[in-house]
Amino acid sequence: MTNYKELIKNYTTDDYKNGLVNLHIHTTYSDGHGEYRKIVRQAKEIGYKRIAITDHNTVQGHLENTDLLDYVIPAVEFDVWFKYIFLHLLAYGIDINAECMQEFYSKDKQGTEKDIIRFFSKRNIKKLINAIHQAGGIAVLAHPACCWAINMEKFVQDLKELGLDGIEIYYPYPRWRKYLKFAPIDEINKIAEKYNLIKTGGTDFHGRDFS
Ligand SMILES: [Zn+2]
Ligand SMILES: [Zn+2]
Repeated sequence: MTNYKELIKNYTTDDYKNGLVNLHIHTTYSDGHGEYRKIVRQAKEIGYKRIAITDHNTVQGHLENTDLLDYVIPAVEFDVWFKYIFLHLLAYGIDINAECMQEFYSKDKQGTEKDIIRFFSKRNIKKLINAIHQAGGIAVLAHPACCWAINMEKFVQDLKELGLDGIEIYYPYPRWRKYLKFAPIDEINKIAEKYNLIKTGGTDFHGRDFS
């Protein structure tokens, strides 16, 4: 069995910067416009050595394409509140059949693709992080610059106390999805180092054709 924690820990800045690894991709199983199998095919053609598909609140794509999981890292992006701040929490390398995760998945298609419905999610972050660990995965804070935390360091520190394993560092600026911008890398990077968090990255791709 793959040790996803070790695998992800060992990816370097260059892997993300040079387009060898992309750990944040959506498909039609949530609000992305590209089909799961097509995106995987295109990613291989472009030369990615590994990708993670991170549809919102669902593992349905992985369950229906298990033959591709030697290339795709099984992942999910959860909507969750923490201290009045709405955030996206990525779970990587979970057992997609794990019983402990079932209560956190969306019950219907709307919960995977409609922003407004996802926004009202009632997940408990402490329980969620525990379940991710129990399912063999790691919990990573997605695109921290999009969180409206007044004190980012305190926010991350509190999440770390709940068991946060990693933080997304390499991701596109929200307005410029096409470019993998390394900002605000300085601040987030320092926080990641200080709290010994695994650094991850991806383009938060939602398009039709993967490039
Ligand atoms: Zn997100
Ligand atoms: Zn996303």
